[in-house]
Amino acid sequence: MNPGIYQALYIISAASFILALKWMSAPATSRRAVISGEIGMLLAIVATLLRQEVISYEWIAAGLIVGSAIGVPLAMLMPMTHVPQRTAISQACGALASALIGTAEYFRQLPHGFTMGALVLETLLGFLTFTASLMAFGKLQELLPSRPITFRGQNFFNLGILVIAVALGGSLVFHPENTIIFSIFVLLALVFGVLMIIPIGGADMPTVIALLNSYAGLSACAMGFALDNKLLIIAGALDGSSGLILSIIMCRAMNRSFTNVLFGGFGQLQAAVAGQEAKPVRSASPDEAAAILGDARSVVIIPGYGMAVAQAQHKIRELHDILIKRGVDVKFAIHPVAGRMPGHMNVLLAEADVPYDKLIEMEDINGEMAMTDVALVVGANDIVNPAALNDPTSPIAGMPILDAYKSRTIMVIKRGMSPGFAGIDNELYYMDKTLMLFGDAKSFVAGIVKELSSNH
Ligand code: NDP
Repeated sequence: MNPGIYQALYIISAASFILALKWMSAPATSRRAVISGEIGMLLAIVATLLRQEVISYEWIAAGLIVGSAIGVPLAMLMPMTHVPQRTAISQACGALASALIGTAEYFRQLPHGFTMGALVLETLLGFLTFTASLMAFGKLQELLPSRPITFRGQNFFNLGILVIAVALGGSLVFHPENTIIFSIFVLLALVFGVLMIIPIGGADMPTVIALLNSYAGLSACAMGFALDNKLLIIAGALDGSSGLILSIIMCRAMNRSFTNVLFGGFGQLQAAVAGQEAKPVRSASPDEAAAILGDARSVVIIPGYGMAVAQAQHKIRELHDILIKRGVDVKFAIHPVAGRMPGHMNVLLAEADVPYDKLIEMEDINGEMAMTDVALVVGANDIVNPAALNDPTSPIAGMPILDAYKSRTIMVIKRGMSPGFAGIDNELYYMDKTLMLFGDAKSFVAGIVKELSSNH
């Protein structure tokens, strides 16, 4: 076929990927982003099939059917709270595909020089991302112990394995015919992937998954060089850089350094400290909460992981609608690491059709908190914990928080006094102006909505 046609399709496809990433940065354009990415991928597949001399379409059709049969139910059945592990498992498949293509090309061509260098990089990153992503999946799904597993000299040992693998890879660039060296190289990459993840706690896994996403992208990028496919180079580079940027954003939002996440047994869930000393808290019923909300002029709703667990977003949307009807100014405060994955709250609230312009980022809403009548915290804990600001010894010290403590009244919906993700107590709950609303977020909000509707 005329190379001009597939080159043009590749350029349109690359542009669709870039637009997809651009549009992904705001909730209002994120649906468009998904469609743009899908169109880009479709064009990429069509162009590649047109470009290559396809020997047998049967294998491609079989791959499509098997892949869809696994992928579609996986996407439909996996609850939103399990998206980090779903990402990990699909990433493991992508990385394995890249590594296997690299291995096949190696045995097919035994190339020298630059192409072999690209193949070495592709297979190294592909195989290590494969086992690392499987380990991450196992930890998040609690099939493996999620606590960090550490041993003396671990970083040194891990680095040693990586250095040997890289040295073997380097020697293959000059002597690709040595297939035994290639096999040892692959084995070391697989082992390094496992070793890389065992010292990282389940708690830090979402950040690590973003980083592994970056490695899988770089592996695909190297594959582009090995196969002389420009679209793979572009798409891999986009994936590699966006994954890296995402993990840096997550580290910053949690006030963790990159090395802190990657080395040395962090992310350990702390032993629960709540309940050690039973400090008094003030609690209220749905009726009392409804009365306070109904009388407020401004309400800021702060959703967190508990909203996701309870699937309370639709009830919260109803509460928003009722309060708006009563003339209350209602906004949603979004913390960058609320929940368990980037954009978790945005996705849930968008699913419940909460207007995008009501979702206000942390930096923008914090200035308004002191003028807010009621901060309604729904299943959020760490992201509103003032210990991050006041206690330099706290595991979350330095993490930016939503300043719920500044508002005139604070109401917190949660089931009991259990700590959140960081495993620490929250002094917000013991403040004089705080009311604890004990119960499951969905049913408690339903109670408030019922009361407000009947009192109208
Ligand atoms: P937290 O995990 O701090 O707190 C969630 C709270 O929700 C718990 O205290 C729990 O209390 C409550 N809860 C659980 N289930 C329900 C329910 N059914 N109804 C009502 N409440 C419920 O969540 P945050 O969103 O405040 O903070 C996110 C944390 O996750 C941060 O520490 C962040 O660093 C971390 N993290 C975030 C990532 C991301 O990408 N977003 C990735 C990795 C980590 P109780 O059991 O008493 O009900």
